[in-house]
Order: sequence, then C-alpha cells, then structure tokens
Amino acid sequence: MGLLKEFDKGQHAGNDLHSFAAELYPICRSITGNGLRRTLTMIQNRIPLQIFEVPSGTQVFDWTVPKEWNIRDAYIKDTSGNRIVDFQQCNLHVLNYSVPVRAAMPLAELKSHLFTLPEHPDWIPYRTSYYKPDWGFCLSHKQMLGLTDGIYEVCIDSTLEDGHLTYGECYLPGKSKAEVLISAHVCHPSLANDNLSGLAVATFLAQFLSKHDLRYSYRVLFIPGTIGAITWLAQNSEAVCHIRHGLVLTGIGDSGGFHYKRSRCGNAEIDRATAHVLGHCGEPSEVLEFSPYGYDERQYCSPGFNLSVGCLMRSVWGTFPEYHTSADNLDFIQPRQLARSLRLCVSIFDVLEDNRSYLNQNPYCEPQLGKRNLYRSTGGDSFDKEITARLWVLNLSDGEHSLLDIAERSGLTFAAIRDAAGLLYENGLLTEITGPRISTPGRK
Ligand SMILES: [Zn+2]
Repeated sequence: MGLLKEFDKGQHAGNDLHSFAAELYPICRSITGNGLRRTLTMIQNRIPLQIFEVPSGTQVFDWTVPKEWNIRDAYIKDTSGNRIVDFQQCNLHVLNYSVPVRAAMPLAELKSHLFTLPEHPDWIPYRTSYYKPDWGFCLSHKQMLGLTDGIYEVCIDSTLEDGHLTYGECYLPGKSKAEVLISAHVCHPSLANDNLSGLAVATFLAQFLSKHDLRYSYRVLFIPGTIGAITWLAQNSEAVCHIRHGLVLTGIGDSGGFHYKRSRCGNAEIDRATAHVLGHCGEPSEVLEFSPYGYDERQYCSPGFNLSVGCLMRSVWGTFPEYHTSADNLDFIQPRQLARSLRLCVSIFDVLEDNRSYLNQNPYCEPQLGKRNLYRSTGGDSFDKEITARLWVLNLSDGEHSLLDIAERSGLTFAAIRDAAGLLYENGLLTEITGPRISTPGRK
C-alpha cells in the first residue's frame, strides 16, 4: 500500500530529469521525421517503449497522416556568403515543416518569409506550418532590423515525402485491465518547458511505475501533438475502452505554480484526485475548468470519447512570454520543479491506486477503539489527526463513499485516510467492497 511511500524511499534527483531534457534539447523534432524517431529511441533506452510507424496518407477520423518531414540544413546567406541565419546554430530558425527551397532574393521579398517577435527583440519565435505548404525563417527582431538591402541566398534542405508518423507507447500491466493514460507530446524542437519537461517527467514516471505492483495498467504515450493523439485514438479502439483515468503532462518544469485543467466531465476521479493532491501539496496551485482548447486533452475529451483525461501544467501555455520562443530553454526549467512535478504525479496515482470503498462492520454506534488498542498513535501524524481519520473512515464507510470522498469531506490528506482504513481493516472493523466500484463518469 502506498505508491508515494515507495517513491519517497528512493532518490529522485531533479538533476537527472534536467539532464535528460538537456540530452533531448538539441534535436530538431516535428510531428513526423527522424528527430521524433531519435527522441523516441532515447526514451526507449530508459523504459520499455514500443515504437509505431503509421504511413502517410492514413485516414484517421477527419484527418490524414501527413507526409514525413526531414531537414538536414537551412540558412540565409548575405552577399558575402556568410550564414547570417543558420539552422545548425538553432533549429528554431526554420519554420517547422518548411518545404524545400533554394533561391536568391532581395530583402523585400525575403521579409515575407521572416518571423520575429517585436515585443521580445532578442528571442527567436517558434513557428510551424504543418498543414499549409510554406517555408520561412524565424529570427530575433533585432537581427532582422539589422539586415541591409541586397540579394540574399536562402536554402532549406528539407524533404516532405510519403513516409510515416512515429509514436511511442509504454504499456505497464497492472492487476486490472482498467487503464491510466499518461500522454506527452514530443513534436517540439529545442523548447524545454513546452515539450521536454512533460516527456522527461513521463519517462521517469514510467520508469518508477514499472518497478512496482500496480492495481491499474498504465499506458504512457509519447506522441506528436494533435495528429498523434488523433492517430492513436483512431487506431487503438480496444485500448481506449480500458481507459479510466488520464493525464496530459506538459509545461511542468518552470517555476510557476501548478495548474490542472479538469477533464470534460469535470468531476471525474482524476479531477478530484488531482484537486485533492494539489490542495495538500504545499505549492501554489489552481484548478481550471475544461475548455476545448489546449493540448491533447482536446482529442481525449472530444464528445465521441469523453475520456476522463485532464491536463497538468505549471504555468499555463500562452500566459508566459517565453512560451513558443527560444527563451523556453534549459534555464527556463529547473531540476527542483521537475522533481516536484514528478512527485506530484506519483501522489495523484497513489490516490487512484488506493481509492477503494469499505464497509464498516460495526455501524451501530462507534466501535470501542480502546479495547482494540486502536486509540493510540502509530507515530505517523499527530495523535488527534490519526484518531480523527479513523473516526471519519468508520463513519463514512457505508458503501457509498470511497476513501477519496472521505478525504475530501474530512479535509484530511488521502494518505491519512488510507492509513486509517488500512489499520481498521487489519483489525476487522472494515471489509473492502469489491466489484465494479471503479466509477467511469462520463463514459456511455
Ligand atoms: Zn507548444
């Protein structure tokens, strides 16, 4: 009993998480292509990851798997032949999914293909054009202002051809076939918080979970944003039926407080477990209502699926200036924040794993705790808190309340309630209610 207790026994250095993000940082990822494959292979070196390839042109619901994009080089050269914008220096310099181009053109013409951020003149923006054939370069506004008239040589040595969309899946079987889904997008190039923080935490989470006995089965997906989730949902209807709870992990390495966006159903067990854990985590946090815009929860929570999947973040995407710019770099994410995010995820799964319902075997007035040697402290929480937790568990274990219900109503932590239930159970005062008590709100 107690995934979190097991976690706290081990060493989980944020530095390891950060250095994994640093290893992945230089790779030019996209929604398809070799950068994505290389990233998945590096994740595969750490966890049992199965890598899948879905051919371009495959119909996935209302979408089509796009052509595969790969890039070797890209630059803008000035009249003296100097590379003034160089993909080899920073992969954000290229509009992601740019079609190949080799041309010479005057500055006025080139400018219609340049993207900058006037409000942050030193940063390079991150831009994509996945579904509209285009090419372009991203550079700092300061650099663009310094460009003088003349003929520039532009080269984007990319290919956009029939190939595959690649995604990775790590399945960790538990006692039950009912599943917890963890989903992280892996399609952003050198961006640390938006992409690498989520996938580093998801990797370490899978590594930790794989070493423990689990009640639920866990499926950790590393997929390109939007099209990856749509493709996975279209091709895995069998697995979808088993999903009971899910979390999209993204942007969890920065110094901001936690934000949790509820699932579409709003009051699913994952929503309540996460809100409960956040309320007791000792860090600033906010629970947000569902909205149909954001990360891949949009697909999991589309009405046809309506899965109980929420999204865990620190700072919310789009609300911090570094979002989708070169300033979302390895300094923007911190080892300590990554480690705390990992622990928070374990705390949430700790609740899901142990959220059960019990039946008080002595429901007519309180059982006499003293004569059972239960009016004592086990040395965990304070005496009062321990006794209070036992009384709450006894009172609400009427077949209608789960341990999470009791934790919410009592204001005590889930761990305190779970430990009390364990002790009362060992002393014959509770029996566990088995059977289909795992609620699946929202699922038809
Ligand atoms: Zn993004």
